[in-house]
Amino acid sequence: MNAGISSQNLVGLDRRELERLVQLLGKAPYRARQLYHALYYRRQEDLAALTNLDRNFRAALAAHYEIAYPDVQGEFISKDNSARFLLRLHDGASVETVYMPQEERITLCLSSQAGCAVDCRFCFTALLGLQRNLSAGEILGQVLAVTKARAIPPGSRLNLVFMGMGEPLLNLTQVMKAIRILADPQGFGIPLRRITISTSGIIPRMRELARDPRRPKLAISLNASNERQRTELMPINRKYPLSELLRACRAYPLRPRELLTFEYVLLDGFNDTDADALRVGGLLRGMRAKVNLIPYNPGSELPYRPSPLERVLAFQQLLTERNIPAYIRISRGQDVGAACGQLRLQGMRTGDSTTP
Ligand code: SAH
Ligand code: SF4
Repeated sequence: MNAGISSQNLVGLDRRELERLVQLLGKAPYRARQLYHALYYRRQEDLAALTNLDRNFRAALAAHYEIAYPDVQGEFISKDNSARFLLRLHDGASVETVYMPQEERITLCLSSQAGCAVDCRFCFTALLGLQRNLSAGEILGQVLAVTKARAIPPGSRLNLVFMGMGEPLLNLTQVMKAIRILADPQGFGIPLRRITISTSGIIPRMRELARDPRRPKLAISLNASNERQRTELMPINRKYPLSELLRACRAYPLRPRELLTFEYVLLDGFNDTDADALRVGGLLRGMRAKVNLIPYNPGSELPYRPSPLERVLAFQQLLTERNIPAYIRISRGQDVGAACGQLRLQGMRTGDSTTP
């Protein structure tokens, strides 16, 4: 890594940008392909180690460019083996990325923004407000920093979910630029069917995504069974109401065997009754969809309580009886603040506790 402050980071540049750079340095176009493969497929971090590039080219690159990953400021390991990574970006902003190993695959939960502007009432990230959008390089940097810290070799089976901090559809250009590189077989080589974007329901951006043939999978945070309830939980429902959101979902093109995912955070006595489950069943009737029921991850600043397990099970049963596949998603890493909706940069300053 080159510590020079004026160096430009190569992480985040796509094929075309690397081709331009290589051309500027007077080198043959195939050098761009080599560099791209080294950066993203092989995940090489040291310019000097790119020995398949000739020495002059490496020297010319090192004079102006660097390969820089976000700094791991903290790694909080849960008793369930997942881990929350606190990452520091070049300007001092911080984001969080969650590492979740399963039996034969690893899922990384990525952030798309530092903080979030959407202001859902049950989410800790909302308490931060929006600090800023992340660049494509900072999104890729999360994958690079965590796979490096965990020594995950290139070619490993990874799933990516944009369910960390931020609303990915409010930073769609950078998120999609990163996804192109993630899904490219010469880049990270992670198939689009293993990449999911989760949205609070930014309808115009969903329509934009629908037109993109190279789109990842889509999850929608439903979280309520009627307009009034959803507006109370997610004020964005005033701008993008449930009825229109469901219309956009019905119009969303799906590939063979693909389903839309609806996420539903269960809040005790608020949105978890039998009547809620029946209404959700009605809203989703006939849709190619499944529901992920997420038991609420509580915290003292927020006014809700998690639903008891028997409610969660009853809710699930009412949906499955209506032919809507419903799964219970117990969040990983709750003990280290890594679970759904808990990301809020805990542990950033000394004195912050790492458990709620
Ligand atoms: N902004 C996007 C993606 C990040 S939030 C979105 O809202 O979809 C990812 C998921 O975490 C969402 O489905 C959200 O409803 C859920 N979530 C937020 N706060 C939560 C909490 N305290 N407990 C459980 N799930 C939560
Ligand atoms: Fe933002 Fe998603 Fe949290 Fe809502 S649930 S505040 S959209 S991160």
